[in-house]
Parts: sequence; structure tokens; C-alpha cells
Amino acid sequence: MIRKLLRKVFTKKTSVRPKAEGAVIPLASHGIRREMVSPAARKVCSVLQEAGFTAYVVGGAVRDLIARIDPKDFDVATSATPEEVRHLFRRSRIIGRRFRIVHVMSGPETIEVSTYRALHDDDTETDEHGRVLHDNVWGCIEDDATRRDFTVNALFYDPTTETVLDFHHGVADLKQKTMRVIGDPATRYREDPVRMLRAVRLAAKLDLILDPAARKPIREMAGLLANVPAARLFDEMLKLLSSGYAVVSLKRLRDEGLHHGLLPLLDVILEQPMGEKFVWLALENTDARVRAGKPISPGFLFACLLWHEVLSNWTARKATKQHSQPALFEAMDEVLASQAQKLAITRRIAGDITEIWALQPRFEKRAGKAPFRLIEQPRFRAGYDFLRLRAESGEINMELPDWWDEFASTNTDAREAMLVPEKKGDGAARKRRRPRKKPAGASSDSTAGE
Ligand code: ATP
Ligand code: MG
Repeated sequence: MIRKLLRKVFTKKTSVRPKAEGAVIPLASHGIRREMVSPAARKVCSVLQEAGFTAYVVGGAVRDLIARIDPKDFDVATSATPEEVRHLFRRSRIIGRRFRIVHVMSGPETIEVSTYRALHDDDTETDEHGRVLHDNVWGCIEDDATRRDFTVNALFYDPTTETVLDFHHGVADLKQKTMRVIGDPATRYREDPVRMLRAVRLAAKLDLILDPAARKPIREMAGLLANVPAARLFDEMLKLLSSGYAVVSLKRLRDEGLHHGLLPLLDVILEQPMGEKFVWLALENTDARVRAGKPISPGFLFACLLWHEVLSNWTARKATKQHSQPALFEAMDEVLASQAQKLAITRRIAGDITEIWALQPRFEKRAGKAPFRLIEQPRFRAGYDFLRLRAESGEINMELPDWWDEFASTNTDAREAMLVPEKKGDGAARKRRRPRKKPAGASSDSTAGE
């Protein structure tokens, strides 16, 4: 306790130490002009520097800019403590427990500002497998660089001087397309097993080769991922799936033997032969959307990833003579409930998922008023995109989405002429409820919204 207190006082002094000896890489070599950094990140750095602290853009943004990839966001590392940062920016707040950081809001942007952290020592609290539990001891910039995961992630860019501080040859590694762990890879993976996933994900995104020393321990240590809290794994998986490089990342995870037991979801994706084609297609689509700068919906993505589980559950229920619609709803509930234990699927996302699934049987009805009501549904587009994926993967006949495509793009008269008697319903050769005189009424439309 006393040692910790002493160190806090001590590290406060070291935190304002002048710049360390890391190599100073000039603009000509790294190519990052200050205009390539977001205005908010530049502002945060300059305010901190004017107040007498050191401050740099760090991590993924520097790496991505050198690799000519658009950074997702900008993080800043500084010698100022969270409280000191908080005092300098009116629109800011301290967040986090495992890592205390400050969110500084500037215009529409939020910049994550973290204080340089010390290296771990014997006092560092870990779980019984060596996983580090807390990480809030402030240190100097060299320490902060060394505790980062990969050399390409340990780069510090100063927008004022347009130089990069590089303590671990990250710029050279990036140029040589190599992903190297800082320190001993096995030790670093033990401290935080998620680093194995990050290694694979980032190497896939940046098209880097994992250095053999970084690669070798992964297969033996993959089991350690079981001790990582589910919410953290879920965040990491969401990052992976929405990175624009989901297909290549997942293939590399499989190559490295990292896909087992990670998430129930991932086992489903990579091991269910029936669903495999569907899921890869969905992920290819997602990647294409992300890379084109279009938004993606986690609801749609998870609806895709879990569809074949729902489908087999639904089919089993129908085989026990349960009616199609209630069987589907029960299948959906069961699949979502089983995932909810492991995955932090929010209520809102779960709502989106069920909407998309619930629309599927409604696409089979191409008679009467039903198709007219369906295209008025706010979620028609998402449901239709999902239907098309099902056809592209061979689950259903392409004729059905083609029909809907035409139906949606033509006028009312032509639509009337297109109606198909129910018994011809695609893929729905099952005998279902007898035609009713009175349609179930407007209330039937609300089923998908529940
Ligand atoms: P992305 O492009 O997905 O944002 P990133 O590398 O920026 O990738 P972040 O989670 O934003 O990932 O992390 C920012 C920086 O913090 C990293 O570049 C790295 O320096 C450091 N970092 C993140 N996670 C870890 C970790 N598990 N261990 C050590 N350092 C980490
Ligand atoms: Mg980042």
C-alpha cells in the first residue's frame, strides 16, 4: 500500500520527464502531415503541450496513417494525470476502472486521452493464470511504449513537430510488413490473452505477417481465452466483425487454432457446414459495406450469424407438428436466450434481430394483401437483404427474392398481376393453415415489430 503511494508520488515526477531516447522519425520517412490528424486530436495535444505536459497521438491511428488506412479514431497519450486532463478541458469526463482514461469532447469528436502507464511489476494484481487485472500506475513514455502490445502500435506522433517517436522499431516493422510483439510473446499473452486475437485481427487488417515468435505460442495458449470476461471478448469480436476485414480475420483465426470456444457464435460460424456459406457471404457483404464507408447494423450481422441455429431449431419444431409461425418465434427466443448468457447482445440489437427473422416467413406469402403490407414495413429492406442472402447461399430458391425485387419496384397494377396463389409459395410446400375469409387484421403486421 505504502509502496504504491510512494510510487504514485514518484511517478508524478517522472511523468514530466523530458522526451526519452526513442528514435525520432521525420515526416519524410513516416509521411503523416498534421492535417491528416483530426482537428480535435490536434487541439487536445496542443492544449496539453501548452500547459507544460507532453502529448502525442498514439496507437492505432499512427499505425493506420503510416499504412495509409483511414484511422477509426484518434487516441492521445500524455504525461498529464486524468485529473489534470479533466481540468484543462471543460467538455471532458474521466471514465473506466481497469484503465482510467479521459474522454475529451471537441465538436462532434471524442478523443480518448490516457496517461502514460508504468510497466508491470511484482505488485501488479493478476488472476491465477497471470492475467493482469488493474493497470492504473502512471509511468514515463518509454514504459508506456513498452507496455503496448505490438511494435507497430507503440508509435507516438507529435502533431506540432510532425515527428514520430518510435521506441521499438515499429515504423521499420510496419514497412517490412511484420507484426511483432513487444517483449516475450508468451508472457504478454499470459498477461492479456486478448492480445492473441488482436495479433490476428490487426495482422489481417494491415496485411502483415505475424512474426514466428509471436505466432508460435498462440496455438498452445489459445485456451487462456476461456478466462477472459465474456463482455471483453464480445467487444473484441464486434471489433473484428465490423472492421471491414472480418472474412480474412476469421480465416486467420481458424488457421491459428483460435476459433474454438471463443464464442458460441464463432463455433457456429466456422463449424456448421449448412450455415457456413451463408455466414461467409454475409460477412463478405459486411466487409464491402464497411470498406465503402456505409453503416452496418449489428442486428443484421447477428441475425446472419445465428440464422442457421434458428433454422435448425425451427425445422425441428415444425417436425413435431408445431405451427410454423409460433415455432419460429419459439426457436428465435431459444437461440437468443442461449446466446445472451455469453454475449452482451443489447435489448435493442435483439429487437432488430428478431424483426429480421420474423419477416422471413412473410416473404413466402405472395397472395392477397400480405405482400402489399410487407413492403410497407419499415424493416422491409433489411428483411429483403436477408432473404437474398439466404437465396445466394442456396438455402432457398433465388426466384423468391427476384420476385420481391420486381414487386417492390413496380406499380400497383403490375403488382396485382404478379400475385401468386399461396400454394405455389416458394419453399413453403408445407400445408399450412386454411385460407381464412377474414385476414387476421392489421394486428398481424405488428408481429415483426415485437
Ligand atoms: P483498432 O484499429 O481496432 O482501433 P487499435 O490498435 O487502435 O486498433 P485500440 O483498442 O483502439 O486498438 O487500442 C489503442 C492502443 O492501445 C493500441 O494501439 C495499443 O498500443 C494499446 N493497446 C490496446 N489493447 C492493448 C492490449 N491488450 N495490450 C497492450 N496494449 C494495448
Ligand atoms: Mg484504436
